[in-house]
Amino acid sequence: MLIFKQIKDLQKHLKSVANQGQTIGFVPTMGALHKGHISLIKKSKKESDCTVCSIFVNPTQFNDPKDFEKYPSTIEEDILKLSAVKCDILFLPSVKEMYPDGTGNKRKIDFGSLAKVLEGEHRPGHFDGMAQVVERLLRIVKPDLLFMGLKDYQQQLIVSKLIEKRKLKVKLIALETMREKDGLAMSSRNVRLDKKARKLAVEISKTLLGAKREIRNTEYEILKIQERALQRLQSFKGIEVEYFEVRNAKTLMPPEKKFEKLIALTAVKIGGVRLIDNLKL
Ligand code: AMP
Repeated sequence: MLIFKQIKDLQKHLKSVANQGQTIGFVPTMGALHKGHISLIKKSKKESDCTVCSIFVNPTQFNDPKDFEKYPSTIEEDILKLSAVKCDILFLPSVKEMYPDGTGNKRKIDFGSLAKVLEGEHRPGHFDGMAQVVERLLRIVKPDLLFMGLKDYQQQLIVSKLIEKRKLKVKLIALETMREKDGLAMSSRNVRLDKKARKLAVEISKTLLGAKREIRNTEYEILKIQERALQRLQSFKGIEVEYFEVRNAKTLMPPEKKFEKLIALTAVKIGGVRLIDNLKL
């Protein structure tokens, strides 16, 4: 695997890759890689000729400075994991390399209500920072295919809108959430859970699954199902619920009609660690 820290070196190499008619698949990450990330790399390897993974803990998307400071970094292990699945290129830029003119954002995109609800409401500025770095990365790497996880459901909807609004020539492929055996969605933040918090964290996916089961077996009583799920999560001492919402899977607005595609999305804090998850209903 080739490792690049400088944009110009990466671009020089990628130009020769593209000139040979090879397609480029791209997996942007913030590192502390787990099987969820690796599933994206594997898919990219299948679908494209050259796979680029980036590891960059983007400061502009952290609304909470403590969350940024505590974000896990396991670069040596990450390199081993990427090499093991034969990732072709790792892009490992510094903050200065990504933001040579500082982290100010003069080209904010209006994503409308999509970026104002759920994560947008609870993490002010998060999506502006995320879109800022994803656009920069896409303009640097110029991939044919972009691989992202449905674990960050709202994020991939916003990136899809970013691609459309900026008329970028890349196809977004969103992949299923990889889970631990007990159902907990894999996340870099899981390593920060202590034993007690890890045990409690299983209740997130259990509650989502419970809501899914209820929707299948009952009439269209979404608000009641949402309320019951919220109360269930809140009943655990040690789980601080930010939201549990059933929404339209395309717009993320509260559902209005029967037979809309629905998704349940939740964010909680357990032992000081913020976790998100979702499930299509
Ligand atoms: P992150 O490093 O958390 O920014 O994630 C990088 C990419 O991996 C994003 O597209 C995430 O949606 C995706 N991802 C994170 N966790 C999982 C998971 N458990 N399963 C599949 N993809 C994931």
